[in-house]
Amino acid sequence: MMNKLNTQALKIAGLNFSYPNNPSVLRDISMEVSPGERVGIIGPNGAGKSTLFLVVCGILKPDSGQVLVFSRPVIQGRFNPDVALVFQRSDDQLFCPSVREDVAFGPENMGLDSKEVEARVEEALSIVNALELSSRPVHHLSEGEKRIVSIAGALAMNPKVIIYDEPSASLDIRSRRRLISILQKSEKTILIASHDLELILEVCTRVVIINSGKIIAQGIPAEVMGDEELMLANGQEKPHSLVPHVLEHKH
Ligand code: ADP
Repeated sequence: MMNKLNTQALKIAGLNFSYPNNPSVLRDISMEVSPGERVGIIGPNGAGKSTLFLVVCGILKPDSGQVLVFSRPVIQGRFNPDVALVFQRSDDQLFCPSVREDVAFGPENMGLDSKEVEARVEEALSIVNALELSSRPVHHLSEGEKRIVSIAGALAMNPKVIIYDEPSASLDIRSRRRLISILQKSEKTILIASHDLELILEVCTRVVIINSGKIIAQGIPAEVMGDEELMLANGQEKPHSLVPHVLEHKH
């Protein structure tokens, strides 16, 4: 019998990946994520974060290595409702005419009946506070609204693992704050790639630095991101909130 206590939400073992014209984009990536962990992935542009996500959710096939979600192997090209990816560019994700249809796409593909699909769509849109967008055409939405709808589309599948690629990009302050609170309250296993280091600090239980397709460091976000030398060496800045304030802010 499988020992539930030892079941990892995500197990990534020895992943290597090359694009046809771009070798070694991921180099021997291994990591384990426990159920309910929220892991931030940081690193410079081109480090391989998005590629890692595309492999983890089965869109790209690794040259070698394996991904297990709750002990089940992810198979490239096979629809897997246990893992949802919120794409970096919403236009890669949204393709139905209306918001409602787009959010319904995942649950419909899971074979749920129309009542259940309807309930999932309502619930997902209300979690992200976007019920009023439901009958709008997707192509009329702002970038930030598209992102919110993409997140609802992922939530509607009720996946075990949700992967967010730059979720706060193009969100206004209120929507970003709302996103942070949704992520903080989530009991799901989450991976988040972001240049928004303050978001990672507020939301994540662990952070992993990736550079040139390799894991460079990982640990508690405030400790890893508080290491200025490590951050600078990997194209990052120490987040402002971790810099000691020598001078009091003026009132
Ligand atoms: P990040 O998300 O960390 O910015 P990416 O995973 O997007 O990094 O990119 C990793 C590397 O792979 C970069 O050098 C990028 O130029 C390259 N790359 C991304 N997509 C493709 C592609 N479709 N074909 C070839 N190279 C790609």
